[in-house]
Amino acid sequence: MVANDRSNSCLVCGVEVLPGASARGSLCAACSGKSAAAAIEEIALTTTLTDPVRIAEIMMSLPGLPMIGCEHTCIASGAIMAALRNSAYGKGGNDDVREALKRTAKQTVDGSCSLTGMCGIAPAIGACFSIFLGAGPGADREQRIAMVAVVRVSQTAAQLTGPGCCKAYVRAGISIAVDMFSEKFGVVLPVQRETIVCKHSESHPHGCREEKCPYFRRPSKDIFASGGFIPGITGCVT
Ligand SMILES: [Zn+2]
Repeated sequence: MVANDRSNSCLVCGVEVLPGASARGSLCAACSGKSAAAAIEEIALTTTLTDPVRIAEIMMSLPGLPMIGCEHTCIASGAIMAALRNSAYGKGGNDDVREALKRTAKQTVDGSCSLTGMCGIAPAIGACFSIFLGAGPGADREQRIAMVAVVRVSQTAAQLTGPGCCKAYVRAGISIAVDMFSEKFGVVLPVQRETIVCKHSESHPHGCREEKCPYFRRPSKDIFASGGFIPGITGCVT
């Protein structure tokens, strides 16, 4: 069972999905009935990918996932913990993935980014560092590192808001975590080199920030398509 991003495979379990075989195109019949939260957990537990950005983008393309919502907090921690498990360093196992998702869910309250100013993706990333370091009550340096991660994610989320976007926060949170794992522990998670281009802009219920968001790209437009202008046929009139 391998979650992957091949176009003819189920996003969750990786089985081949024949065109038209499922009402929810990118999911097999068995996975179509799963909640977004269950699908996110299954991907985190079964994927063999090592790039946390790719894992998160697969999760964020699940048909049942709301554009905005606290499921995104588990995408952040699930993608990081799965990538650590699958990495060459082999950090953690599925008990750690489950523990991260459990801690993340405990810290997550719908609308908390507005109600308290705390985006749940910050403690989601904090949980990843805490579990990675085995931090517990009374921990010294381990606790500091987890707290620094939370502050960095929170600060970056604040720069990305207005209105808020869980998908932008997930991408930024994962980027910060990847940088910190590399800087502090030499654990280098392989992330895609291509620039992330958000495919969800038009679904934002509060209005996408568009050019103010680093993940937004306006679709390119053929300026010749509507004017009937054919390069090389019409002469220059200047
Ligand atoms: Zn499936």
